[in-house]
Amino acid sequence: MATETHGSGSALDVRALEAALRDHVAGEVRFDAGSRGAYSTDGSNYRQVPIGVVVPYTVDAAATAVEVCARFRAPVLPRGGGTSLGGQCANTAVVIDFTKYCHGLVSLDTERRTCVVEPGIVLDELNRRLAPHGLRFGPKPSTHSHCSLGGMVGNNSFLAYDADRELMRRAGIEAEVLDAGCCGLAGNFGFERGHHELSLAIGEQGVLPAVRDTAPGALVLADGFSCRTQIDQGRTGRRALHLAEALSLGLDGPLPADRPEKAVARPVASRRDAGLLTAGTAAAVLGAAAAGAYALARGAGRRARGTVRRA
Ligand SMILES: Cc1cc2nc3c(=O)[nH]c(=O)nc-3n(C[C@H](O)[C@H](O)[C@H](O)COP(=O)(O)OP(=O)(O)OC[C@H]3O[C@@H](n4cnc5c(N)ncnc54)[C@H](O)[C@@H]3O)c2cc1C
Repeated sequence: MATETHGSGSALDVRALEAALRDHVAGEVRFDAGSRGAYSTDGSNYRQVPIGVVVPYTVDAAATAVEVCARFRAPVLPRGGGTSLGGQCANTAVVIDFTKYCHGLVSLDTERRTCVVEPGIVLDELNRRLAPHGLRFGPKPSTHSHCSLGGMVGNNSFLAYDADRELMRRAGIEAEVLDAGCCGLAGNFGFERGHHELSLAIGEQGVLPAVRDTAPGALVLADGFSCRTQIDQGRTGRRALHLAEALSLGLDGPLPADRPEKAVARPVASRRDAGLLTAGTAAAVLGAAAAGAYALARGAGRRARGTVRRA
């Protein structure tokens, strides 16, 4: 069908949009069913068939594509590696894929330790090119071999586990890091009707039994919202703490020998706030779902707790 109605509610002349993109944009303009199907999913469980796909040859061409889409009031959706877990890269929009051509390291200033990159460059590739200069880009999500700098900025992607590990080392916390993660609530789908059991079944493959086996005096740490939620809901009898909460315990004096997490008070949301919390939670899942997959750690009991530095 040549005319479709999209998010704005106004009719969109898809054929005219495609023709205008072909006329003005230096790049691949792909509105065929195969391309739209290929770009209908990302790392999440969501599927939305895009209006079309543009693979620009240059960053300027991408800007032109945005201008053309704006003229047609067509939604646009930039895409990097598509490793998002919350459906960020699946929508009825014109998808602009930066990874095929717009992946250059434009300039590098070794004195100031800064560089300019095109958005489609993959993190590992950037770091491979920085390595001869003794430099690397710090944030390193688990998807470092596929994620792009543009997507990292879009998601505010952060470190995998290295920073936490270093912080705990400096704080004197001995931690056993599990090599299993939870399901990350699989981009929030664990909260949906009919998916909760599956979400918990995935947790039962590693995380939940490990938490149940944890000594009563040891802390359970999970920086990711998803793992914390699963541990709360997975009949472990334990409440997992964020690393920041664990560090705060070190400031607050002696801890209970049994389930030391009881010493951490969390504010109870009012009914009105609880509504806001739900919305905030949905946003948090975008990053935290991924975090959940790697951030579960077990504190090593009394010694770990005793040696957390006091301010
Ligand atoms: C197994 C697994 C583990 C993960 N581990 C982590 C982790 O450790 N830490 C973490 O933070 N995340 C993690 N993630 C989530 C995700 O991989 C990261 O957020 C990743 O950095 C996203 O990069 P990407 O190139 O795939 O972005 P995409 O998924 O392609 O895009 C992400 C967002 O950025 C936008 N975007 C992309 N390019 C541009 C651009 N040029 N201009 C404007 N907006 C743009 C997109 O529209 C989208 O909203 C994980 C995901 C998986 C599947």
